[in-house]
Amino acid sequence: MKGYTEKMLYIDLTRKKAKIRKISEENCKSYIGGKGFGAKILAEELEPKVNPYSPKNLLIFATGPVNGLTLSGTAKFCAVFKSPLTGIWGESQCGGHFAPQLKFAGYDALVIKGRSKTPVYIIIEDETVEIRDAKHLWGRDTFQTEDVIKKDNGQHFQIISIGPAGENLVRYACISHAKGRQFGRCGAGAVMGSKGLKAIAVSGTGKVEVSMPNELENFRKELNEQIKERLKSLREYGTPAIMALTQTTGTLPTRNWTQAEFDGFEEINAETLKRKFIKGNKTCYSCLVACGKISKVETGPYAGTEVDGPEYETLFALGSLCGNSNLESIVKANEICDRLGLDTITTGNAIAFAMECYEKGIINKNDTDGIELTFGNHEAVIDILGKIAYKNGLGKILAEGVRKASEIIGKGSEKFAVHIKGLEPPGYDPRGLKGVALAYAVSCRGACHLRHMAYRPNLTGSHPFGRGKIDRLSYDGQAEIVKELEDFYTIVDSMVLCRFVCLPSIGPILWSELIRLYAIITGLKITKKKFIMLAERINNIIKSFNLKAGLSRKDDSLPERFMNEPVKGQIIEKTELNKMIDQYYRLRRWKCK
Ligand code: SF4
Repeated sequence: MKGYTEKMLYIDLTRKKAKIRKISEENCKSYIGGKGFGAKILAEELEPKVNPYSPKNLLIFATGPVNGLTLSGTAKFCAVFKSPLTGIWGESQCGGHFAPQLKFAGYDALVIKGRSKTPVYIIIEDETVEIRDAKHLWGRDTFQTEDVIKKDNGQHFQIISIGPAGENLVRYACISHAKGRQFGRCGAGAVMGSKGLKAIAVSGTGKVEVSMPNELENFRKELNEQIKERLKSLREYGTPAIMALTQTTGTLPTRNWTQAEFDGFEEINAETLKRKFIKGNKTCYSCLVACGKISKVETGPYAGTEVDGPEYETLFALGSLCGNSNLESIVKANEICDRLGLDTITTGNAIAFAMECYEKGIINKNDTDGIELTFGNHEAVIDILGKIAYKNGLGKILAEGVRKASEIIGKGSEKFAVHIKGLEPPGYDPRGLKGVALAYAVSCRGACHLRHMAYRPNLTGSHPFGRGKIDRLSYDGQAEIVKELEDFYTIVDSMVLCRFVCLPSIGPILWSELIRLYAIITGLKITKKKFIMLAERINNIIKSFNLKAGLSRKDDSLPERFMNEPVKGQIIEKTELNKMIDQYYRLRRWKCK
């Protein structure tokens, strides 16, 4: 089938064996790729109650039909696993250059299972697959790991790796790639660490064939024009541009979700970042958008720092959420997290939670090894990162994530432990974005902004698919919008496209372009109705996995803080939330308790 290699590489680290499995054309048609493949494999091959650190847990990397094309927004691939942070479906996407190489090497997906007794890394060069000793890499940060593997094997390899956080099983450790791209959320890096797997390097010489190459050329030209016209702000500022909207709408999470507007906004916003630190752009394979921004700190205590970022999510999590308006320190903290392999969103939430514990007297300097862990103390933010990655002192507790940390600390801290199903929220306060409240509550991986992107239509007031205006403070109609957004991004994540070329309202790829692109690649005509049916099936499989893992409808909820403590005059009313959830369940035809 065009767009696919129809092969999956299975590697068992316990037995040190690799084998190739065929992917049937039927499965390509039914599950598309990426998230769809991940859902099918996880549901069929993993017992949902398995311990995420068991050798039985799977780490699935899956591409889709667009990966490997010379086309903007086609560099992402999907990781699926059982999450050690949440204990349910874990999923994350990463851009860069690895996905096309995996396709060129001849594989649509890579499935890792088992556990090596000693550290190893995997090297894949077309059909040659080797599991090699990685003792010389264990303990190195992710930047060093890539440098060493490339020096030893050649610059043509693309590499994903874990840092000390993954090795030490920090529950929200990420997998890093290309010194700035990550499988950030849900702890994929900890699963990789539990398998004794330090890195995977891949290089391929094949190519991806499409059914209509001339049509693809036309599509590319049109897409590039649309990108120049519609994604100007993303191209100029990267994701931090959205902070202007969260600040002005009163939805910028601040001081552990006690406020939604940051008095240090001017110091950490996109304009300031651009003026003071951004020195260049970075892009993924074949992508015209180049939303990655390289920041360099040239003077002061953090001089010498250079990082791909910070993205908006890092700016909020290590900035406003911690009351930190010192931008240099956020850039530095971003670099440290990337090197150590820490998800910046959960890391920022964990530090902000600890800061509130400290300010309320629940923990003190004896617990923090003398660190004055107050909101706004940027040096404390920097100091605590290493403690988390190496599980020292308080860092050992925070390495568990906010939910488990609050259970360990106790003393009423559970009341301000902000998480949904164990995953800490990204940078959009749902109290001022009612659609986001629903989307966070029902999301399959916990508090997530990417499964639905509901924050964008709520913030901009525009319906994601061009059907008029929406009111971010109204509960009405949000269930239909969230459900359609989830279905749309399920297809996007199965193709696997980057959602930044598929943004609500502005696209440039929305339903009709998605249908056209699928036909150009595969030669198959598909309707929106059929795409929605496929997306619903994938979401049903994931829901079923989560139910079997132990979730029930009551887990589709929000932290007490969002329902009891107003910010900017807004709370989420429990009855209204329940009505939205009822409506959402009706649309999904879910009857589960
Ligand atoms: S839009 Fe940004 S993240 Fe997406 S593929 Fe392009 S450069 Fe990568």
